[in-house]
Amino acid sequence: IHQKPQSVTLPQINVEQEGEVFTEQYFEDLQIHPSVKLGLKSSEYIKMTKIQQQAIPIIDTKANTFIKSETGSGKTLAYMVPLISHLMNSEVRITREQGTYILIVCPTRELSLQCVDTALKVGKKCPNIVVGALVGGENANHEKARLRKGVTIVVGTPGRILYHIQNTQSFKFSNINTLVFEECDRILDMGFQKDIEQLIQLFSDKIDIPSCQKIMVSAHVNQNICQINGLEITPKNYKFVGFSK
Ligand code: ADP
Repeated sequence: IHQKPQSVTLPQINVEQEGEVFTEQYFEDLQIHPSVKLGLKSSEYIKMTKIQQQAIPIIDTKANTFIKSETGSGKTLAYMVPLISHLMNSEVRITREQGTYILIVCPTRELSLQCVDTALKVGKKCPNIVVGALVGGENANHEKARLRKGVTIVVGTPGRILYHIQNTQSFKFSNINTLVFEECDRILDMGFQKDIEQLIQLFSDKIDIPSCQKIMVSAHVNQNICQINGLEITPKNYKFVGFSK
């Protein structure tokens, strides 16, 4: 019997306070890897948006984080900056042969390609970090060839990622330590819950999911979001950015 997915109640959505003062802050002043700063500068990212000011220091602590703010407010950059900085600061130098470290799951091909674009900009001065998309509509064999050489940051849609986990033996995912779900409410609305749960199940043999840093991203999440088995999105396990208490 198919059980209705359990839902969790999230903190309230933040309402802008009237007269709230916004103090400008610069990427240059963050404690992030110098190559990431250089990438940001050469991609002309200078000032942080509000959500970036709020989210970057929290994600930088490696806490599980749920970010909510409107489309276009800069959420993708808000997680990409600390995550690429973590890779660059890792004790052993990361090379593509070590396979994937970060997996970003998106509901659509378009959003996947936008995330790849942002990762390439932030990682512009980090030549050892390889970014790649796994999306429907592309030639799966080309993707296989890239996975064989190694892709540090994989961005893709649930079905295609699942396909490669099941069919591409050279997809090295045992080093994954960070999972991002872009527009996580849309991923669930579009019926990908089963795919995500299967993906997590297949990963569980090789990756310790509870110890991975998990980032949930959404523009439109309601008070209740479906629980995903294996991700445990609860106020105890996540820091909520862009929400109010
Ligand atoms: P969201 O994920 O919230 O929809 P994005 O991270 O995709 O937002 O950012 C929306 C647009 O704004 C993108 O074109 C991105 O390049 C740009 N952008 C994001 N952050 C900054 C920033 N700090 N300075 C200038 N442009 C930015």
